[in-house]
Amino acid sequence: MINDSYDIIVVGGGPAGTTAARWAALGGASVLLLEKDRELGIPVRCAEAVGWKTLLKYVQPNPQAVTVKLNSVRFIAPDGTEFVFKTDDVGCILNRRIFDHDLGRMAAQAGARIITRAYVNGLVFQSGKIGGVKVSLPDGNKEIKAKIIIAADGVESRVGRWAGIRTHHVPKDLESCYQMTLGGISVNTDYVSCYFGTNVAPGGYAWVFPKDEDTANVGLGISANRSEELKAQDYLERFVEKRFPGASVLACVAGGVPNTKPFKKVHGDGILLAGDAAGQASPLTGGGITNAIAAGKLAGEIACESLKNGSYLEKNLAVYTKKWEDQWGGEHRRLYRIKEVVNKLSDVTLNNAAHILAEIPSEQITLKQVFRTTLARHPKILIDIARCFL
Ligand SMILES: Cc1cc2nc3c(=O)[nH]c(=O)nc-3n(C[C@H](O)[C@H](O)[C@H](O)COP(=O)(O)OP(=O)(O)OC[C@H]3O[C@@H](n4cnc5c(N)ncnc54)[C@H](O)[C@@H]3O)c2cc1C
Repeated sequence: MINDSYDIIVVGGGPAGTTAARWAALGGASVLLLEKDRELGIPVRCAEAVGWKTLLKYVQPNPQAVTVKLNSVRFIAPDGTEFVFKTDDVGCILNRRIFDHDLGRMAAQAGARIITRAYVNGLVFQSGKIGGVKVSLPDGNKEIKAKIIIAADGVESRVGRWAGIRTHHVPKDLESCYQMTLGGISVNTDYVSCYFGTNVAPGGYAWVFPKDEDTANVGLGISANRSEELKAQDYLERFVEKRFPGASVLACVAGGVPNTKPFKKVHGDGILLAGDAAGQASPLTGGGITNAIAAGKLAGEIACESLKNGSYLEKNLAVYTKKWEDQWGGEHRRLYRIKEVVNKLSDVTLNNAAHILAEIPSEQITLKQVFRTTLARHPKILIDIARCFL
């Protein structure tokens, strides 16, 4: 039985939504989370890679939710030159079916009520202010009141727009992705592989993220403004045919990833936006799981504080945008600038850069080392890169 009214309604049961619901409930609020799909975490629209140390800042994953621990990243230039980058925090590949379920379970344990097959199709306004949501449930439509809405409805978010918040993505700041989970192949589980080149994934990259020695998430993202001739799926079919001929396709999924500048405002009167709905995924890699969890936690906590203060007007909730901006805005902008530069580099420049990097032992690849070697051997590359900033 769903109540007619809650303190907080969270729309969307991805990592942002379940984390927001958990922290809001832990803060003492009555919380309802509404998810349109039948089950949290399904379908998996994700390559499932996360930075291990960053993840641990927010959640200790159940060991069953971690399929592979990685120790390096392998980059492959357009001409096939490879170099390996080792770091002490490459990360792991999750099983998001289990991981997302666990996040939901934690929210429920904290006291949040979670309902699946609950499609939010509008906001309820009272005297011009947000006062709840309209939801379509298997047994009919319902209006449910809430003091604060947390919109965690992913990249295709409509809730923010209904509230009058600008969440529009220009095509160049949206990656169109396609992924296949391949079985019956042979992959090294020590590293993830990222392939670059205009013929591979224009304005993006292709990934091979191992789930096991014989299974991997193989996908790619291309800039949405470069998908006129060939779609992401066409590029991926070509990629798979070349590198994994005869592989079995265990699953296919298409999806978008925002890689935008930070939104100016991720709050409004009685509403907070979190995760992909707020464009908070990394603009460089497209990774958004931990960003969504971090933003969800902040949104849940701030929603609770606002309830305690009895004030959830736009001016009171502005602290959410400010805190997000203070903690992650600078880094997000830096990654956006790097993405813009990388996308403008020609295949020739990428190849030349890879030739240099391939000469540096993987343990010694630091920015300083790269700069020194490049300056000494191929100063023209630095000029090409500098041009991209102009
Ligand atoms: C192909 C692909 C590969 C990716 N690989 C990675 C990766 O390796 N690592 C990484 O960190 N990130 C990756 N990402 C990005 C990552 O999946 C997202 O950034 C992350 O899931 C964002 O979490 P979220 O909670 O904001 O949104 P989501 O996980 O998208 O959750 C939003 C939820 O809201 C629900 N919803 C939407 N509208 C409504 C509505 N009206 N009513 C009720 N419910 C609604 C949806 O059903 C969904 O469950 C990838 C994305 C794609 C598309």
